[in-house]
Amino acid sequence: MKDTYRHKGLRKKLIQEIRKKGITNERILEAMEALPRHFFLEKAFEEWAYVDKAFPIGNEQTISQPYTVAFQTQLLDPQKREKILEIGTGSGYQAAILALLGARVYTIERQELLFHRAQQLLDKLKVGNIRCFFKDGFKGMPEFAPFDKIIVTAGAKEIPEKLVKQLKIGGIMVIPVGEEAQIMLKITKVAEDKIEIEERGHFRFVPFLKGTKKEKK
Ligand code: SAH
Repeated sequence: MKDTYRHKGLRKKLIQEIRKKGITNERILEAMEALPRHFFLEKAFEEWAYVDKAFPIGNEQTISQPYTVAFQTQLLDPQKREKILEIGTGSGYQAAILALLGARVYTIERQELLFHRAQQLLDKLKVGNIRCFFKDGFKGMPEFAPFDKIIVTAGAKEIPEKLVKQLKIGGIMVIPVGEEAQIMLKITKVAEDKIEIEERGHFRFVPFLKGTKKEKK
């Protein structure tokens, strides 16, 4: 895996584009400029890594559009040492960005094949501070709860109660909710039984599905 001057140049341009679209958090832009996104796509599709679009990563799933990653991360506003749960590991790119920002990341994927690939890649890149799990994200990870923050990167039909339970008081969850298209919600847990919801624009994600899917052998 090589990160050439050409890749770095393309990445710089992509970051400028994302900045123009309204992302202002410099720490996030820096992390995205530092992380070679082309490592998260198959070699044949490398060219697409620095276009601001979602892209297929196999098994009918996608790596989120760079702007969407930046937008969700900005809403989540990760701080150093925070314990963050991600639902939908996919390629592992979003998890790596959170880790580069200093968070302690727990990430769950329901497809075994994607889980394996992401785990191997993140190990190889030595990002550190990321733990990958092959599980159904609907259940979250009660054994590691409570989390400072939770980010969901698949479109949910409704706000999953079990995940809200696993948030600290004062914690934040960023989740796209809706059937065909989704509204990005920033949820703040203000008390044990009370949440506040802010709506932050329209997006389109692959669906948040129940259960796990094993690799075919
Ligand atoms: N964050 C990813 C984008 C992933 S796309 C990235 O940076 O590349 C959404 C992912 O959510 C898909 O891989 C899909 O398989 C996964 N997913 C959907 N429902 C899930 C569930 N219940 N638990 C865990 N992962 C789920």
